[in-house]
Amino acid sequence: MAKTIQAIRGMNDCLPTQTPLWQKVESTIERVVSAYGYNEIRMPIVEMTPLFKRAIGDVTDVVEKEMYTFEDRNGDSLSLRPEGTASCVRAGIENGLFYNQEQRLWYMGPMFRHERPQKGRYRQFHQVGVEVFGLQGPDVDAELIMMTARLWKELGIDQHVRLELNSIGSLEARHNYRQALIAYLEPHIDVLDDDCKRRLHTNPMRILDSKNPDVQAILGDVPALADYLDDESKAHFAGLCEMLDNAGIAYTVNQRLVRGLDYYNRTVFEWITESLGAQGTVCGGGRYDGLVEQLGGKATPAVGFAMGLERLVLLMEELQLTEVRRRVDAYVVTMGEGSMMAGLQLAEQLRDQIPTMRVMNHFGGGNFKKQFKRADAVGAAFALVLAETEITEGKVTIKDLRGGEQQTLSTAEAIEWLQAQM
Ligand code: ATP
Ligand code: MG
Repeated sequence: MAKTIQAIRGMNDCLPTQTPLWQKVESTIERVVSAYGYNEIRMPIVEMTPLFKRAIGDVTDVVEKEMYTFEDRNGDSLSLRPEGTASCVRAGIENGLFYNQEQRLWYMGPMFRHERPQKGRYRQFHQVGVEVFGLQGPDVDAELIMMTARLWKELGIDQHVRLELNSIGSLEARHNYRQALIAYLEPHIDVLDDDCKRRLHTNPMRILDSKNPDVQAILGDVPALADYLDDESKAHFAGLCEMLDNAGIAYTVNQRLVRGLDYYNRTVFEWITESLGAQGTVCGGGRYDGLVEQLGGKATPAVGFAMGLERLVLLMEELQLTEVRRRVDAYVVTMGEGSMMAGLQLAEQLRDQIPTMRVMNHFGGGNFKKQFKRADAVGAAFALVLAETEITEGKVTIKDLRGGEQQTLSTAEAIEWLQAQM
C-alpha cells in the first residue's frame, strides 16, 4: 500500500459528524447579523504581503511570526490572510465603498496563522468578522457589542462569556502614554523576556498583555492609560459605557486590554470564557479610525470585531449544546419488484411538496431488518415502506421509528400527514 499523506499540522478537517454544529453556529450568526441590516462581503484568501504589514503593524506577533508568506511565480510576496480587517479595508478602498456612504459589513472564512497548535489555537481557523465604516459615534460601538450579546444568547452561551472593555484613546494620547510606559519599564528590563525587550521601544503597549507571568508581576504599578486619554476619547468611552448600561450588558473595564493589532484606537473589547483554558477569547474587536487612511483611502472612521468559530464550537461542545437538526426526517424502505423506482418517485414527490423535509432512499438492497437498521443509524424519524401490497394499492406504510406505531395511507394522505409532522 502507498504511504498515506497527512493534513498539515494545525489545519483540521471538519468531519460530517461535526459539520451540523458548525452549520448551526454559522446560520445563527448569519441570521443575527442580518437582523441588524449588515451585508456580507467576500474577499480573497491571499493578499499582497505589504497589506498586512502596513495594516496590522510590523512589530506584532501576527506579522513577525505567524504569517504564511511566499513568493508566487511572478516573484510577488503574497500572504495567506491572518485576519480579515485588512482585506476588508483594501476591498472597500479599491471598490469605492467608502465614498460618501456608510457600510455595515460582515464576512466569514478561513484565516491562517503559523502558531503552535493546541486546543482552540490552530494554523487554519475560521472567523466571522463584522466591520462598520463611516460612523464615528459610540452608538455603533454599542450596537456591535449588543449584536454579539444577542448572538451569545441565541447560541446558548451567554452565561459563559464575559465582556472586557477599554479605551486606548487617540494616537496622540497613546504616544504620550508610550513615553510614560517606557520610562516605567526600563528599570525592569532584566525581567522582560526577549519579545518584550524587543518591543520596549517599538511597541511597548504590547508588553501589557504579555502572557509571561514574570512580566505580569512587574506591571503592578504601571501607569494607567486612562490617565493619558484625550478628552474626546474619554467622552466617547463614557457614552459607550452608558449605552451598555442602558442595554443591560454587563462589562468590566480592563485597563490592560490593548489588543494585539496596531490599528486599534479608542474602544477595544474582548469576550472571554473561562471554559476553554488559555484560549479563552472568543471574540475581540474595537475601533480603528485611522486604518482606511493609512491604507491609502480617505479618512473614514471604522469599528469592528472578529470571532473565532473553532472556539465558539468548542465552547458549545463543552456546554453540551450540541443538539442539531435531524439530518434525515424520512427513510424510504423498499421491497420487491418495481419498488426501487417507486421509492425514488415517492422521495421526489415529497421533496416537491414538503421542501423542508429531508428524505433519504435506501440503496443496495437487503431485508427489512437491515433497511430499518440503516434508517435508525441515520437518525430518521420515520421509515416509509413500499412493498408489493403498497405499490399495487398506491399506498405507503409510515412507521414511526421513535414510537413504533405504523399506519398505511394512500400516497396523498401520507404526504399530507407527513407535512403536518414537519
Ligand atoms: P489570541 O490572544 O488568542 O492569540 P488574538 O488577539 O490573536 O487572539 P484576534 O486577532 O483578535 O486574536 O482574532 C479574533 C479571534 O479569532 C480571537 O479572539 C480568537 O477567537 C480567534 N483566533 C485568533 N487566532 C486563532 C487561532 N490561531 N486559532 C483559533 N482561533 C483563533
Ligand atoms: Mg494571537
